[in-house]
Amino acid sequence: MPEGDTVNRTATRLDQALAGQPLTRLDLRWGQLGGRTFLPAATLNVTSRGKHVLHRLDTGWTVHTHLRMEGSWRIMATPEVAAAALHRNDLRAIAATAHWTAFGLRLGLVEVWPSREEAARLGYLGPDILGDDWDLDEAVSRVRSPSADDPRGTLGAALLDQRNLAGLGTFWTSEALFHQGLPPWQPAADVSADSLAALLTRAQGQMRIAAETGVQSATGSTRPGELAAIHGRSGRPCRRCGTTLRIAQIGPELRVRWLPYCPTCQGGLAPTDDGRPIRPLGSAPRARRR
Ligand SMILES: [Zn+2]
Repeated sequence: MPEGDTVNRTATRLDQALAGQPLTRLDLRWGQLGGRTFLPAATLNVTSRGKHVLHRLDTGWTVHTHLRMEGSWRIMATPEVAAAALHRNDLRAIAATAHWTAFGLRLGLVEVWPSREEAARLGYLGPDILGDDWDLDEAVSRVRSPSADDPRGTLGAALLDQRNLAGLGTFWTSEALFHQGLPPWQPAADVSADSLAALLTRAQGQMRIAAETGVQSATGSTRPGELAAIHGRSGRPCRRCGTTLRIAQIGPELRVRWLPYCPTCQGGLAPTDDGRPIRPLGSAPRARRR
């Protein structure tokens, strides 16, 4: 699932391709937006806020997209776009200039807002970990304050909650918690502000590099298979202690996520984990008798 660094990089690339140019095409294949005409218009800029992409037009409208689980934007030189590319059934948006064409594939959400409403519509988001207006103290304070819909307020869920800070998903959250040796299931309010600040500052540095290079590494290594200490490695041995890494549910009922962790390095079995043997991710399932 794309996290803040991927979305930030996506917005930067879209901005480089489209900003300052008149659009020759803007098709939004999303419900009733499919019938609307937005041209003539030029792109003012494309920016990100947490996991949201904001494409601002000079007509006062903003196209808001969210990649959700598996969305992406691809950019091609317009003269090289084949007709077949315009008819893919997973295509949700096309934005083109004379030079570049951007394809929004498998997007999770497409909306159009008056640009002046952006602040109000995204006002629920906490500080953006990759934003110019990042506020570490504010983010730390929000993470440590339990929310009304998650009174138990576990640390892992609080870091994933975009209202506390925007941009972290399960990759950066699980890797950061592992590195700090913090149990994801402990109450966020019990974690010291210093420890949280260190966790966020480290994650931010790695996310900035990932946004720049396009390689998401939480270990410092850029070799395939070594990018993560625990994410995507459940069922395999912890590289630090050898214990089998596990994965368990976290978060309040309506926002449950799966988070990998090491029971030894991170303070024991999760309350949502029954401790059953766990198969390595991606390994063949055991044959079942009928
Ligand atoms: Zn371990």
